[in-house]
This record gives sequence, C-alpha cells and structure tokens, in this order.
Amino acid sequence: MATLKHPITIAGGGLAGLSLGVALCRHGVDVTLHEASTYPRHRVCGEFISGVTNDTLRRLGIDHTLAEAVTLTTASWSDAAGPLGSMQVAGCGISRWQLDEKLRQTFTDLGGHLVTGSRIEPGPGIVWATGRPKRPGSWLGLKFHARNLILTHDLEMHMGSTGYLGLARIENGLVNVCGLFRSHAPPKAKGPALLIAHLRAGGLQKLADRLDAADIDATSLCGVAGFRLGSQPGPPFSIGDSACMIPPFTGNGMSMAFESAECALQPALDYACGNQTWDQAAAASKKAHHQRFRRRLAVAGVLHSLLTTRLGMRLTTSLARRRAVPYHLLLQLVR
Ligand SMILES: Cc1cc2nc3c(=O)[nH]c(=O)nc-3n(C[C@H](O)[C@H](O)[C@H](O)COP(=O)(O)OP(=O)(O)OC[C@H]3O[C@@H](n4cnc5c(N)ncnc54)[C@H](O)[C@@H]3O)c2cc1C
Repeated sequence: MATLKHPITIAGGGLAGLSLGVALCRHGVDVTLHEASTYPRHRVCGEFISGVTNDTLRRLGIDHTLAEAVTLTTASWSDAAGPLGSMQVAGCGISRWQLDEKLRQTFTDLGGHLVTGSRIEPGPGIVWATGRPKRPGSWLGLKFHARNLILTHDLEMHMGSTGYLGLARIENGLVNVCGLFRSHAPPKAKGPALLIAHLRAGGLQKLADRLDAADIDATSLCGVAGFRLGSQPGPPFSIGDSACMIPPFTGNGMSMAFESAECALQPALDYACGNQTWDQAAAASKKAHHQRFRRRLAVAGVLHSLLTTRLGMRLTTSLARRRAVPYHLLLQLVR
C-alpha cells in the first residue's frame, strides 16, 4: 500500500459520500465524513436501483449492502387511460432507510470517522457529496411507503399531466411510492394526502384510489423541492447529485451516485498519497464524470422534456399505443 500523506473529508453521507468513504477506508485513507442529518432516515427516492454493475460495487467494497435487496424484473408504463407497455428490467428495490444505514455501518466498521448532525461548508480537501443543490426549480418530489398495495409488475410507472409516479417493491412486502410533480399551484392537502391529491390533479384517479385504499406508513413520508436536473454548478470536487442529477424516471440516480464515487476514487487516492494536488485530483474526477455520464444525461434530459410536456406526452403515448417505443434501447441509452 502506498504511503498516505493526506486525510480526506467528505461532506454528505448519502450514497455517493458513504460509498466513496467506504472505498477510501478500504485503501487505508483517514476519512472524516460530515452528515447534516442522522441515520437511519427516509429519503425522497424511487428506491429502484438499476444500471450499476457488480464490478463497480465490488471496487467500492459495498456489494454486500445490496445482498438483501428485492430483485425486480418486470416493469410497466401507464397513463391516465391505462397501460402503455411493459418490459423486462434488471434491477433491485431497497429502502434508503436500510441501504444508507448499511453503508453507514460499513463505513464506521472500517474505521471511518462519522460526524452526524454536522452541516459543513465547501473548502479545499473536502469532497462535496451533499446531494441535490438548492436551486430555484419547478419540481416537487414526494415519497412514502405503503403496505397492502397489489402491484401488476415489480415496478409500475404512471404518467400524469402534472408529473409521474413510480411504485416499486422493496423489502418486507413494502411498496415505495414516489412521484415527481410540477410544483406550481400545488393542491391543498397535507401529509400523504398531498401526493394523492397531486395524482388526482394529474388525471390519475384510479391510481389515487388504489393508494387511498392502501396502508400508508405516514412516518416514511418525505418531500423535496427547489432543485434542477442535469449538471450542477457545485464545488470543483463534487460527486453524486452534487455533480449532476439525472431525471428520476430513469431509475439511474443511485447507480450514478455509486459510479460517481468510483470516478472519484483514483483521483482521491492520488491526492491522499501526495501524487496530485487537490486541484489536480478534482479536475481528474470531473473529467471522469464527464466521460462517463455525458451521453446518458443528454438523452435523459430530452426524454424528461418529452414526458413532462403536454405535447411531448401526447406524442410519446401515441407512439407507445402503436408499440413504437423502443423501451430497451432507451433504457440502455440512459445507463
Ligand atoms: C423524486 C425522485 C425519485 C428518485 N427515484 C430514483 C430511483 O428510483 N432510482 C434511482 O436510482 N434514483 C432515484 N432518484 C435519485 C437518487 O435519489 C439520487 O440520485 C441519489 O440519492 C443521490 O445520492 P447522493 O449521495 O448524491 O445524495 P443524497 O442521497 O441526497 O445524500 C446527500 C447527503 O448530504 C447531506 N448534506 C447536505 N448538505 C450537507 C452539508 N452541507 N454538510 C453535510 N452534509 C450535508 C444530506 O443530509 C444527505 O444525507 C430519485 C430522485 C428524486 C428526486
């Protein structure tokens, strides 16, 4: 093992920060991670992981954290008028409550220093993994867990006129319910009822009725607003959503958080060993991100616009009804 000269600080203990922290600890680096919140905790997320390879998970030393995730193989797309199509998928479902906690446990077991309840500012020597930066934006993300919700497929995607919603199987027979809605003129409702009201406002009455009849875990409700998709203007050494955010419908954001940690690993090690300055390491990480994510971000951005504008939706659904949407090709292009 090379001699390590510099410790590394990470801001943000979500998927990107914790998985980089674990990988660096496995290489003997002295890592301190500051997390603004505590564990375990719910996060706004569809909780459907797809795209990340076993090689990436093994390189980061986090493959065991997904061992108990539920394997998901079938998916369907619907709009207010009914099913648009179905397909095979390769992915898994696991709550962020469980996944982030497993990563935290691994990080601390390896000797990583974790400081919870600590919100820090950017600076040299700090890898920025703080998730979606707060920026004025028109989207509202909402999620909760539900029981007694029968799914037609492991993953159901529903497109409404004001946004979209995914239902994914996760552990213990739970279903994660997560939607992204336009935040102008939100319906007047609170708690889980707000998500259901958004579905009704978007014309998804049947889906709203299904959720009304389900057993909702109100303690798992969380929401997020004020963010923008695509590349982010963060500090130079940013990873995960702090670096770039892919539209949620792709189900690839968590995979990207892991892959982003992988992109940052060698540059961070080079800095820790004294082979590169902080600025050189940050530039190398940024270049690796650009090469790895450029295409999928561009394709996902175009598809997101199609799925969230009236004209785009009309075009997409009419193509889908004629079975003219190449789901598999599109899925590959956003991975
Ligand atoms: C509505 C919606 C649905 C989604 N659905 C899916 C899906 O089904 N599949 C998928 O793969 N992806 C999905 N995603 C994307 C996925 O959730 C993110 O890409 C992923 O969580 C990014 O991980 P991260 O580590 O970069 O950020 P996060 O998981 O957000 O972690 C960032 C952490 O940093 C902490 N923090 C913030 N500021 C500071 C600070 N200054 N100092 C210290 N700590 C700080 C926060 O408390 C947080 O714990 C979805 C996103 C949204 C919005």
